[in-house]
Amino acid sequence: MKIFIFNKKYILSIFSIIILSIFIFLHFYKPFSIATSVSEENFINNSIKEKFEQLENSKEKVAYLTFDDGPTIKATPKILDILKDKNVKATFFVLGKNVKSHPELVKRAYEEGHYIANHGYNHNNSVLYKNSTSFISEVKNTDMEIGKAIGVDNYCSYIFRFPNGYMSSAYKSKKKEASTLLSQMGYIYVDWNCLNNDSEKKVNSYTLLNNLKNSCKNKGTLIILMHDTNDVNDTTEILAESISYLQSEGYIFDNFYSLFEEK
Ligand SMILES: [Zn+2]
Repeated sequence: MKIFIFNKKYILSIFSIIILSIFIFLHFYKPFSIATSVSEENFINNSIKEKFEQLENSKEKVAYLTFDDGPTIKATPKILDILKDKNVKATFFVLGKNVKSHPELVKRAYEEGHYIANHGYNHNNSVLYKNSTSFISEVKNTDMEIGKAIGVDNYCSYIFRFPNGYMSSAYKSKKKEASTLLSQMGYIYVDWNCLNNDSEKKVNSYTLLNNLKNSCKNKGTLIILMHDTNDVNDTTEILAESISYLQSEGYIFDNFYSLFEEK
């Protein structure tokens, strides 16, 4: 009988240790795809913030391709095909309204390893900067649409890009206020330091590629702005060539997931 009691106690303590270990593991475990984890306040710590802030001035030859304003039927699938073919991972700054229209495209991009970041819901500055509630809703509703599209509850993209960029002069003071809100919400914002001007005036493919070559001259790390919309120019026409050119210049491609990894 004594032996039985001892065994029972013994089994109970082993059982408790296992439960405790599972609890500790689940508590501290961070999946590789950080953006898939449940939103945590102040997840963006100072070290991650610094990494993003230093990107533009880094001498390292790393290229971060970023595509804004999508997803769209006319451009996103083609871009995903090219990126897959070239084995390049990029970042998509999506619009909430477009995610709602084409959730399948966001799902594909996400599943193929691209970072899905936030560009606001409507791309309409008068709505975005109407007041702080409106700004917060634009960001949160976009993440909500992304979450629905990819099947992740409470998805938080953590990275926001201001329509027209933080650096542009329009809505300067509003953007300053919004950047404080973003920080309180646990987000950072990212502009770019290289572009092919695909959303400016219509040009031929040669000029589009040349724009990129000129824009990346004498720079280290590149955050490249492109659009997956084809509204003005079709970036898909020169994407493969752009990647090959940058690789021939010694660049390696990465997306924003890597900045969340501890090194
Ligand atoms: Zn935009």
